[in-house]
Amino acid sequence: MNEQIPVKNVTPVKVHKPKGEGQGKRHDSRSRIYVRAVKGPLESFRRFFGLIFLGLFAIIPWLQYNGQQAVLLDIGEQRFTIFSLTLWPQDLTLLAYIFIVSAFALFFVTTFAGRVWCGFMCPQTTWVYIYTWFEEKFEGPRNKRMKLDERPMDADKFMRKTAKHTAWVVVALLTALTFVGYFTPIGALFIDFFTFNVGFWAGFSVIFFAVCTYGNAGYMREIMCTHICPYARFQSAMFDKDTFTVSYDATRGEKRGPRPRKLSHEDVKQKGLGDCIDCNLCVQVCPTGIDIRNGLQYECINCGACVDACNGVMEKMNYPKGLISFTSEHELSGGKTNIIRPKLVGYFVVLVIMIGLLFANIYTRSPVEVDIIRDRNSLYRETNEGLIENVYTIKVLNKTQQRQSYTVEIKGLPDYQYIGKQEFEVEGSAVYSTPISVATDAYNLEDTVTDIFISVTVTVNGETVTVDEPTKFLYR
Ligand code: SF4
Ligand code: SF4
Repeated sequence: MNEQIPVKNVTPVKVHKPKGEGQGKRHDSRSRIYVRAVKGPLESFRRFFGLIFLGLFAIIPWLQYNGQQAVLLDIGEQRFTIFSLTLWPQDLTLLAYIFIVSAFALFFVTTFAGRVWCGFMCPQTTWVYIYTWFEEKFEGPRNKRMKLDERPMDADKFMRKTAKHTAWVVVALLTALTFVGYFTPIGALFIDFFTFNVGFWAGFSVIFFAVCTYGNAGYMREIMCTHICPYARFQSAMFDKDTFTVSYDATRGEKRGPRPRKLSHEDVKQKGLGDCIDCNLCVQVCPTGIDIRNGLQYECINCGACVDACNGVMEKMNYPKGLISFTSEHELSGGKTNIIRPKLVGYFVVLVIMIGLLFANIYTRSPVEVDIIRDRNSLYRETNEGLIENVYTIKVLNKTQQRQSYTVEIKGLPDYQYIGKQEFEVEGSAVYSTPISVATDAYNLEDTVTDIFISVTVTVNGETVTVDEPTKFLYR
C-alpha cells in the first residue's frame, strides 16, 4: 500500500501585496506578507513555548557552575563545557550521538505531528514573532501597516519606521551578544563590547550575527522556511497518512462562499454551501502566506495560526469548530488515525536506544586522556651507568572540572629506573605535559623493540581509573 500523500500542484496565492509595489521593486519576485495577529489557544501555546525558549536562550550563558560559565562552547580551546560535562575533540563520538539523538527526535516528532518544531519551537519562528510584535506595536495592525507602506514618507511614517528599526537593531544586537556569549565568556563580552574593547573576532561575530538576525527576522522571514531551510524539503519523506498536520476539511467547508450571518446552519446546507464563509482570515494570519484550503503544502510550518483564526470565525457563525484542525489524512477521509504504526514505533525504538547509548557513553567516559610522545631526536641513549634510556613526553588531559592527582608507572619493562615526575596534579579541564625518561639494563631486554605500557592512574570521586597507554622501548 502506498502511504505517501499524493502531490498536488498548487500555485501559491500571495494576496498581501500593497498597491504601488510595482515592477522592479525589492519585493517584486514575491508579494510581501502582512501577517494579521491572531488570538486563540494555539497562539497562546506558541507564545508560551517561545517565551520559555527565549528565556532559556538568554539565561543559560549567564549561569555559573563550579565558579565558571556553566555552558561554554570554547572553540579556541577546543573544549565544550556543559555544566559538569566537558567535551574535547576526543569526545567526537559523544557529539555524534547527540546529533543522532536530535535527528531521531526530529524524525519521531515530524512523523507524529508534522512540522510542529517549525511552528512552535524553531528559533526562526520565535524571532520572526518578536520582530512582528514590534512591527505591530509601532506601525499598527495589518491593514494599517499596508496603508502606511502605500503612503509617501511623512513625519509620522518616519517616526514609526525609525522606532521599529531601532527596536529591531536592539533585539538583533542582544541576540548576537547572547549567542556569541555561548562561545566566549559572556560577562566580559558584554563589558568589552559596550566599552569598545572587544577583540576583532568577537566583535566581528557579534556584528555578523546581529546583521543575520536583523535581515532574517526583519526581512527574509518566510523565505528562510520556504526556500532555504532544508528541513522543509525532506519532511514529506517522514509524513504518512496518519501524521497530524494542519488541514482544511474540504468536504465540510466546500462549497465556500459568503452568506448572511443570520442564516441558520441548516439553511446554509440547503443552499448547497459548505461551512467556509471565504473570509480569507486563515490566509491573512498565515506567516508563510499560503492558503491551507489548497491542501497540504511544503510551506506550511504547522503553526496552527489558521486553526485559531478559523475556529474564531466558526464560533462567531455558531458553526462547529475544527473546519481547519490538526488532523490526519485518514481522519479527513472518514477513517481513524493509527497512532501506533511501524514507522513511528521504529523511530521511537531507535530514539530510545540512541538515548541509552548516549548516556552509557557519558557514564563510562574516562576522566583522563593520556598521550605518549616518543623523543624524536634519539631512539635511545646509553647512560653513564651503561643503562639503555628512552625519553618520552607524557600528555595528560584532565577531563574533569576539578584538580586531580595522577601517578605514573611503567608496565612491561623489568627492573627499570624512572627519571621525571611520577606524581603530579593537573587543574580541571587542563592539559599537562611532562618529559620522562625510562632506563634499564640491556640484559633485561630480549629484543631491540620491547612493547611497554606507560600507565597513568587517577582517583575520581572514589573510583580509581588506570589508563595503560602502549608505546615501545627501543634498543639498537
Ligand atoms: S478562516 Fe475558515 S471560514 Fe474563513 S476562509 Fe479560512 S477556512 Fe474559510
Ligand atoms: S497554513 Fe496554517 S499552519 Fe500552515 S503555516 Fe499557514 S497558518 Fe501556519
